[in-house]
Amino acid sequence: MEEKRCALVTGGSRGIGRAIAVALAKAGHPVMINYSGNIDAAEEAAMLCATADDMDLPVFIEQTDVSDESSAIKLIQSAEEKLGHLDILVNNAGITKDGLILNMKTEDFQSVLDINLKGTFFCCREAAKYMMKRRFGRIINMASIVGLRGNAGQVNYSASKAAVIGLTKSLAKELASRKITVNAIAPGYIDTDMTKAMSEKALEATLKAIPLRRAGRPEEVGALAAFLASEEASYITGQVIGIDGGMGA
Ligand code: NAP
Repeated sequence: MEEKRCALVTGGSRGIGRAIAVALAKAGHPVMINYSGNIDAAEEAAMLCATADDMDLPVFIEQTDVSDESSAIKLIQSAEEKLGHLDILVNNAGITKDGLILNMKTEDFQSVLDINLKGTFFCCREAAKYMMKRRFGRIINMASIVGLRGNAGQVNYSASKAAVIGLTKSLAKELASRKITVNAIAPGYIDTDMTKAMSEKALEATLKAIPLRRAGRPEEVGALAAFLASEEASYITGQVIGIDGGMGA
């Protein structure tokens, strides 16, 4: 029997990450779900993964703040040990701390960069060591439409996501010879806890700007990630795939 490809999803306990973890489990991948603080959500996500297929695949949860270098390294090592091998890394953990630049505190700029960008870098660097030896890997980084187009009130967040896109493209070039693909997903407006904080007025304006006239569903991003992780996607690397209802077209 062919060996199963194993996956780690950072920030896999809620929202888009949870949907990605479930989609990967449905596709037959043993999964580790990382979270930062909310254990109830992580356990719920693990339960959904465990019941996503009838193959009785293992599911693990691991609490780690990916912005802390030594913790991020330990997370990857733990995924290697518990799953047996880490083949698919989804760098999805992310936060926002919005505000117009004149009011933005330096620590709010820094913490967004630390989690969204440095966390992605730490996990990619450690996972690449194992993937390079095995000559296989799928790395999927969560960017955003605002990393491509910008958004008032999000200089920190959009800078972090633009940087994730640069990191993705460079890393794809570095790792291609080892059959490791590296791609970014750039969602538009997806209905999760992150976007629930929006005011009614801002939500109305956002929906008007979406040609498909609705928010995206986390499961739609999950399906895209599962495809990028699949054998069928082996010739796709260094790409930024938009999933935004036409907003970025
Ligand atoms: P969400 O619902 O707020 O979930 C965030 C997830 O990240 C949670 O599982 C959270 O775990 C985890 N997390 C936060 N800080 C972490 C840290 N330091 N270390 C490890 N895990 C951490 O967010 P979402 O909307 O699903 O967004 C997921 C990703 O998609 C993010 O990178 C976001 O920037 C990106 N994105 C979202 C949208 C959208 O419209 N929703 C659009 C474009 C891009 P805890 O609950 O334990 O804290």
